[in-house]
Amino acid sequence: MTAKSVDVLLVGAGAMSTALGTLLKQLDPSLDMMMVEQLDHVAQESTDGWNNAGTGHAAYCELNYTPMLKDGSIDTTKAFKINTAFEVSLQFWAYLVKQGALPTPRQFINPTPHQSFVWGDENVAFLKKRYETLSQSVAFKDMEYREDPEVLRQWMPLVMQNRSPDEKVAGTRVRYGSDVDFGSLARNMAECLNRSENFAMKLGCKVKDLVKQPDGQWKVEIKDLKSGQHETVVAKFVFLGAGGGALPLLQKSNIVEGNGYGGFPVSGQWLVCKKPEIVSKHLAKVYGKAPIGAPPMSVPHLDTRIINGEKALLFGPFAGFTTKFLKQGSIFDLPKSVKMDNIKSMLSVGKNNMDLTRYLISEVLQSHDSRVDALRKFFPDAKNEDWTLSYAGQRVQIIKKDPAGGGKLEFGTEVIIAEDGSISALLGASPGASTAVDTMVTLVERCFADRMASPEWQAKMKEMIPSYGQSLIENPELLRTVRKYSLETLKLDENYE
Ligand SMILES: Cc1cc2nc3c(=O)[nH]c(=O)nc-3n(C[C@H](O)[C@H](O)[C@H](O)COP(=O)(O)OP(=O)(O)OC[C@H]3O[C@@H](n4cnc5c(N)ncnc54)[C@H](O)[C@@H]3O)c2cc1C
Repeated sequence: MTAKSVDVLLVGAGAMSTALGTLLKQLDPSLDMMMVEQLDHVAQESTDGWNNAGTGHAAYCELNYTPMLKDGSIDTTKAFKINTAFEVSLQFWAYLVKQGALPTPRQFINPTPHQSFVWGDENVAFLKKRYETLSQSVAFKDMEYREDPEVLRQWMPLVMQNRSPDEKVAGTRVRYGSDVDFGSLARNMAECLNRSENFAMKLGCKVKDLVKQPDGQWKVEIKDLKSGQHETVVAKFVFLGAGGGALPLLQKSNIVEGNGYGGFPVSGQWLVCKKPEIVSKHLAKVYGKAPIGAPPMSVPHLDTRIINGEKALLFGPFAGFTTKFLKQGSIFDLPKSVKMDNIKSMLSVGKNNMDLTRYLISEVLQSHDSRVDALRKFFPDAKNEDWTLSYAGQRVQIIKKDPAGGGKLEFGTEVIIAEDGSISALLGASPGASTAVDTMVTLVERCFADRMASPEWQAKMKEMIPSYGQSLIENPELLRTVRKYSLETLKLDENYE
């Protein structure tokens, strides 16, 4: 029997593969594409609404993206990178809404002001400096800063309720922040792909192995988890968008670019409240500062969430440690990922990050009362009985070799691409789904370089992402124009000027 051949094989049906598949299908509808997902439904791992925080990360108020430097200035590099990358997502989603490829925006994105809230002299000074630095640019021009408790009470009533008047507090706000149901977004993109020609979706099927052929294509072995049958597919290009499952597949691919990579899984939990009388009093994502010793993604936040149309409040994340790489993974994921080429980096990271391990274990051992105590720092009147614990997705942080011969732990996202561009893997989980489109555009430029250089693909890219090829940081007028277009189309702010 001859194996089926495809142009593009997408492994995993989460935010990343659906974004890449949608981009490529728009660029060339004739591409023959297959998406393989081991679960029975699309976007059930990290991308599902309840498994992530749903922040449309634009770095407006997430304080971990703007560390204070030793000289007291604010490092804004990451904030600008994330802010402009999110604008790329917004433009693409707006384009898809206009095309009818995505439904009405309310089904996947909702206007939710982004706010920061801090207490204590040092933190207030930091927030003020952050505001003064960022608000000078067009990207952050609408950020507001207040220390007045009365104004803060209007912005975030639950947070200010019964707070001591002697406490020094401050907040910032950007009114057109967003809450994104990434699960709904990915499912809608997958449905649109499913309706297109030359596309096959294989649910309940797991990619078991992949081998590079002498002609440069990839022979991929797929197992149907219900029937137990195996199928071989030959693909010109493979994307390992398998979330926590990407590292083991990258290792199987044996590409040199993947050498030395390891993963450090961090699990997460939320406190969730669905009581209408509490939920109705909060409309914001309010970010605080991460506790000392906590990893950067542990910045606590009290969020309005709208998932599958249902409104709730969510507080967290509380980090935790398991050896699983996926929420529905195996406890052997971590031990099985230790290989000759990464053992040194993994041991070095283990040895040098004992504080992090201790922090994660202490988080796991917390009682419900101590979790709600952490929440009470944000929402002083929170009652234990109004909140329940819910389990978030897994984040596999990247371990890689450092120049000194040891290993380092990274909290970002990294795309690994084979030299010939025939395979690519996405590792890491932050800032994640928000910047998926920008990440996938870069991937297309690298892996489909010849076609991307063609006038047809260049023109299509500019049609989908009007700022394509230009820097939004260096071109404030362009940023203003595309932001107005996206905020209006996605119904996030009809009055942006
Ligand atoms: C606690 C938490 C909070 C977060 N908060 C935010 C946030 O506020 N904003 C934001 O933008 N991002 C956030 N993220 C990150 C975001 O959720 C992820 O970056 C994004 O969902 C990753 O998408 P993905 O497609 O790479 O992975 P996933 O959604 O995990 O999808 C990968 C898919 O691959 C499948 N798979 C794995 N192995 C195989 C195999 N061998 N064969 C077939 N299928 C396979 C899995 O079943 C899964 O469905 C958060 C993540 C977590 C865990």
